[in-house]
Amino acid sequence: MKYISVAIDGPAGAGKSSVSKTAAKSLGFTYIDTGAMYRAAALFAIENGINIKNDTDALINRLDEINITIKYTDEGQRVYLSDRDVSERIRGEDVSVGASDVAVIPQVRGKLVELQRKMAKSANVIMDGRDICSYVLPDAQVKIFLTASLQSRAMRRYKELCEKGIECDFDKIKADMEYRDKNDSQRTVAPLRKADDAVLIDTTELDFEQSVEKIKELIQNVL
Ligand code: C5P
Repeated sequence: MKYISVAIDGPAGAGKSSVSKTAAKSLGFTYIDTGAMYRAAALFAIENGINIKNDTDALINRLDEINITIKYTDEGQRVYLSDRDVSERIRGEDVSVGASDVAVIPQVRGKLVELQRKMAKSANVIMDGRDICSYVLPDAQVKIFLTASLQSRAMRRYKELCEKGIECDFDKIKADMEYRDKNDSQRTVAPLRKADDAVLIDTTELDFEQSVEKIKELIQNVL
């Protein structure tokens, strides 16, 4: 059976995951958050005392030990590192920055892309990340580049963390996001960029429901 793939790329905080999750639920698609996989790989490095930026080889040598599994429950995607559910832990700011650093390592990307392509072969999926349209699923039937201004992306993340009761600093969040934007778009392997055939959606002036509707509309056109 041929499944439908929807690929969504964009910078951190553009609303990719919340919008994709809601659109996927309403259309009966499986939502795959590929950033969570890079985050889990970064957590492995952090917990094993591997300095991601200065000791890339140490991480590459232990690649076989990084066992990432994605499971689906009623609450959505859960991420496991070996047998441990790390879904909440990988949302920490230390892991966000670490994920952007592990993501420049081609061997890490190779391993995770293989897992992502395998998952897209077994269901109708909405998969989000940085290189999904251009590299992971170049034949996806719907391709979207979701973005927003740095200021509004940082503000959304700030509010999200405040609502969860997590202590945070707006300027630090904005600076971390700027660091990740630069890192993600300037790396040589699979940099963040809009694929030529992706539809650009700027959510700076859109609210959550409007963003979901725009994406659902594009998907429904191919169903
Ligand atoms: O999407 P999220 O912000 O959780 O991703 C964390 C980091 O993982 C990104 O900053 C990026 O460096 C990396 N990433 C990637 N390719 C993807 C998904 C995420 O390089 N497909």
